[in-house]
Amino acid sequence: MNRQTKLAILADAAKYDASCASSGGERRDSLGGRGIGSTEGSGICHSYAPDGRCISLLKILLTNFCRYDCLYCVNRVSSNVPRARFSVHEVVDLTLDFYRRNCIEGLFLSSGIIRDPDYTMEQVVEVARQLRKVHDFRGYIHLKTIPDASPELLRRAGLYADRLSINVELPTLQGLQQLAPEKDATAIRRSMARIAIHIDDAQQAQREQRASTAKSLPQSRPRRAEAPRFAAGGQSTQMIVGADDADDRTILATSALLYGSYRLRRVYYSAFSPIPDASRSLPLAAPPLIREHRLYQADWLMRHYGFAHDEIVPSAQGGMLSLHVDPKLAWALAHRERFPVDLNRAPRELLLRVPGLGVRTVERLLAARRVRRLRSDDLRQLRLPLRKIMPFVVLADHRPGKVLQPQAVAVSVTAAAMAVPRQSSLFDELPSASASASHSLPLASVVP
Ligand code: SF4
Repeated sequence: MNRQTKLAILADAAKYDASCASSGGERRDSLGGRGIGSTEGSGICHSYAPDGRCISLLKILLTNFCRYDCLYCVNRVSSNVPRARFSVHEVVDLTLDFYRRNCIEGLFLSSGIIRDPDYTMEQVVEVARQLRKVHDFRGYIHLKTIPDASPELLRRAGLYADRLSINVELPTLQGLQQLAPEKDATAIRRSMARIAIHIDDAQQAQREQRASTAKSLPQSRPRRAEAPRFAAGGQSTQMIVGADDADDRTILATSALLYGSYRLRRVYYSAFSPIPDASRSLPLAAPPLIREHRLYQADWLMRHYGFAHDEIVPSAQGGMLSLHVDPKLAWALAHRERFPVDLNRAPRELLLRVPGLGVRTVERLLAARRVRRLRSDDLRQLRLPLRKIMPFVVLADHRPGKVLQPQAVAVSVTAAAMAVPRQSSLFDELPSASASASHSLPLASVVP
């Protein structure tokens, strides 16, 4: 089998691994001389670095042979798909080739389990080792690690990779036992804990080294050897959504536990996608993609906005997030007694709960209100979604009126949230003062 065919198979097999924003993109190419560019560069996907940069990664499996039979996985042993396997040097060569041609900035490598977990993990680690040590590769490396692999292999993986991840696969233990009976939930958590300890140790060693280097200035003592790095980009995991009957409340509870226990950088949610020859234990249809999106929004609220996981999903909705309204707006509508919030006086924690205000905006508002009283114009200048914000806030020149009834406010704001998004044109008019006044939907009437 030639390398191109292997690449097509093993890049396609990796498309269900999250941490990539472009897998579902429309297929386009420039054959026939029309236009330039292609979305079919096998295995090249985009991911986001912690500082917000978008980076292109070569995302492939080392092999899609697998001796496990996880029911939700297209690569399971009983699946009838074409199989391929790269050697270590093939992956190294491909990565360097793509990198030199400026097609990628890094590698995302995962693998089916061949022979045994240690054998597979050794190959994955060897790819990273050769890239770093033999070729001095400075690009990004994300390794998907195998939970049953030995602690020593996990440790070595962290020396070469920027990020490590281990998939928890399903939100509950029962789900894992039912759909992936060969996977060991305890081994998954144990390996996550080991990685967390290695990351902590490396960070501590770096802090100590920085402190001792500072003390030794100006060159009064010889410099110490550089502290070893370990997965500086942290660890992440992925959960499949909609393959079992776990509700959103359960999924978010599991995420909160993982963030708290293993200090994960990210939990990725991957909507289950029906596969050929699927088991009868799996649903016939995929969950709506918007469910995955709502989970990401809720996850964001937990990580950056101070929401607890059990506040976000109301028990009244059968443990599910609303598909029609984003979780923050849904929370605000369910807690009208907390609004309107005075933007000139409220503490940061409360400002973060106002629909339409993001973390950066809140920082800007806090800075601005130190020198003057905030007015509607300040929000307008920040290009904020006034229709969403105004019913929930008090400003120097704005207080929600007393015209609409609670239900009307909910319907109006919800309708705005559900409006089909439209790309703004360069020549769209900015909202005028009178237009924005009409955005000022009244809220006082809904506050008891
Ligand atoms: S171990 Fe991984 S690759 Fe193998 S069947 Fe399970 S999910 Fe798929």
